[in-house]
Amino acid sequence: GCGICVKKCPFQALDIVNLPEQLDQPTHRYGQNGFVLYGLPIPVEGKVTGILGPNGIGKSTSVKILSGTLVPNLGRTDAEIAWKDVLDLYQGTELFDYLQLLSQKNVKVAVKPQYIDQIPKVFSGSVRDLLATTDERGKLDYYIDRLSLTAVVDQPIATLSGGELQRVAIAACLARDADFFFLDEITPYLDVYQRMAAANLIRELALERPVVIVEHDLAILDMLADTVHIAYGEPAVFGVITYPKGVRVGINQYLEGFLPEENVRFRTYAVTFDTRAHASDAEREVLLEFPTMAKRFAQFSLTVDGGEIRSGEVLGVLGANGIGKSTFAQLLAGVLEPDTGAMDTRVRISYKPQYLKGETEATVEEVLRQTTTKFDTSYYQHEILEPLSLSQFLQAPVNTLSGGELQRVAIAVCLSRDADLYILDEPSAHLDVEQRVKISRMIRKHAEGREASTLVIDHDIYVIDMISDRILVFEGKPGVHGKAAGPFDMAPGMNRFLEALGITFRRDKSGRPRINKPGSFLDREQISAGEYYYTE
Ligand code: ADP
Ligand code: ADP
Ligand code: MG
Repeated sequence: GCGICVKKCPFQALDIVNLPEQLDQPTHRYGQNGFVLYGLPIPVEGKVTGILGPNGIGKSTSVKILSGTLVPNLGRTDAEIAWKDVLDLYQGTELFDYLQLLSQKNVKVAVKPQYIDQIPKVFSGSVRDLLATTDERGKLDYYIDRLSLTAVVDQPIATLSGGELQRVAIAACLARDADFFFLDEITPYLDVYQRMAAANLIRELALERPVVIVEHDLAILDMLADTVHIAYGEPAVFGVITYPKGVRVGINQYLEGFLPEENVRFRTYAVTFDTRAHASDAEREVLLEFPTMAKRFAQFSLTVDGGEIRSGEVLGVLGANGIGKSTFAQLLAGVLEPDTGAMDTRVRISYKPQYLKGETEATVEEVLRQTTTKFDTSYYQHEILEPLSLSQFLQAPVNTLSGGELQRVAIAVCLSRDADLYILDEPSAHLDVEQRVKISRMIRKHAEGREASTLVIDHDIYVIDMISDRILVFEGKPGVHGKAAGPFDMAPGMNRFLEALGITFRRDKSGRPRINKPGSFLDREQISAGEYYYTE
C-alpha cells in the first residue's frame, strides 16, 4: 500500500491522507472486478457544472447515470438494486430530488456523446434532415448561424469534416427541449473561434436549463463552467467524483495536483505557467530560414512571410481551421512544393500529421523499433515511453488503438526520429487533460538542449502557452486565403492572435491565464491598452 492512509486505501494507488467519505459507498461497479465509481456530479439550476479529469476515470459513466441510461448498482454486482435502494441512500442529499425525478422518468435530458464518429454510421441523411428531428425549441436557425453551419446544411452527414460534425452534434443537443443538458466534450476538432462560439451558446442555455459538461481544454472549461467536480483515481480501476468546487479554485487545484479538501495528491508535480520561460532568447542560433512562399490550390491560397526558426526552440502555431497551417507544415516538410519560393532541402524534418491513419497490423513496439535504435535505453523509457504511458499497450496492433492511444504513438514516432525540425500537427487532439499536461512537458524537455527545433500546431491555448518560446500566427479567411505571420515573441504573438479573436486574458495569482468576460471592466481596460494576453 501507499503506507500513509489513515484508513486503508482500497486500491493502494493514491497518496490519500484522509480517505474521503465518498469512498465508503460506491455509486456503481461494472461487473465483479470491474471499474468502480464513487460520487456523482450535481446538475444545478442556472449553472454550468464541469467534470474535470483523465480518461477512464468514470466521467462518461456518471453522465450515463444522470441521463438515465444506466441505473446505478451501488457497487452491488451480486444483488438486484432497485431505484428505491438508491433513493434511500441519497435521502437528504442535494441529488435526491434529481434522482427521484429520474427514477420516475419525469425528466427529459439531452446528451451530446463523446464519440461523434459514430453519427455517420447511424444516420445517412443531410445535416438539415438530422437537425430537423431535434429542433424542439424553434431555435435551430439561430444555432446553425452561430455555429457557422450554414454552408453545410444541405451536405450529407457522411461528407462532413470532424469539426463540422462536432458543431452539428452540439447544435443537435442544444436545440432540444430538455430539462437537463449533458455535453461530453465540445472542443475536439474545433479551432479557438469555434470553441468560443460553442462555449458562449452553452452559457446562454445555462441561464434557462442546467448543463453538465466534460471538457479537457482548460481555458474553455474555465470560461464555460461555474463549478467543477474533479475526477481522480486510477483509470480503469476506480474513480472518485469530488464535491463541486468553484471553477477557478478547482482548476488551480487540478494543476497543482493536490486536492486540499479531499487531502489527495494525484500528481507528483505541479503545472505552472511561468511567464519568464517565454523570455525571448535571441542568443539561440538560427536553425533554418524559410523563404517567402506561396501555394495555390483550386479554392485556397497561402502566402508565407519569410522567417527564421531557432535551434532548440518550440514554436507554437495558432490560427483557425482551414487557414493553411497543415499546408505550411507540408511545405516545410517537403511533402508539398511551393509555387513560388523554395525550401532549403538540407533540413531533416520529422512530421506528425493532423489526421492519423494507424492502419498497420504491426504492434506499437515494432513500429517504434523501426524508428529508433534507442528503444531499449533508459533514456527512451523515461523520456518517451513513460510520459506517453505507452508501456501498457506496446504489444497491441496499431490498428486496434483508440484515438488517444494512436495520438501518443504518433507523437513517440515523430520524436524518435533523428531530425533538425520536429513538426507536431495538433498533438492534443483526442488526449485528456492529464495527457496534455504530460505531452507539453515532454515536448519541451525533448526540445531543450537539442540542436533541433519543434513546431507545435494546436488549438488548446494552455498547451500553446505551456509549450511555446515563440508564436507563428495564421491570418486570413478560412478556406479562401491564409497568411503566415511571424515568428513573434510570446506576448506580441498571443496579442496578435487574440486581438483578431476579440478575446482578452488576465493572469490569476498562480500565473494561470484566464479569459476575461466579454465587456467586463478588465476586458475593456485591456482592449483599450492593447493588452490581450499579458498583464501584471
Ligand atoms: P471516462 O468518461 O472518464 O473516460 P468512462 O466512464 O467511460 O470513463 O469509463 C470508466 C471505466 O469504466 C473505464 O475503465 C471503462 O473501460 C469502464 N467501462 C465503461 N463502460 C463499461 C461497461 N459497460 N462495462 C464494463 N466496463 C465499462
Ligand atoms: P488548417 O491546417 O489551417 O486547418 P489546411 O492547410 O489543412 O488548413 O487547409 C487550408 C485550405 O486548403 C482548406 O480549405 C483545404 O480544403 C485546402 N486544401 C488543403 N490541401 C489541399 C489540396 N491538396 N488540394 C486542394 N485544396 C487543399
Ligand atoms: Mg468519457
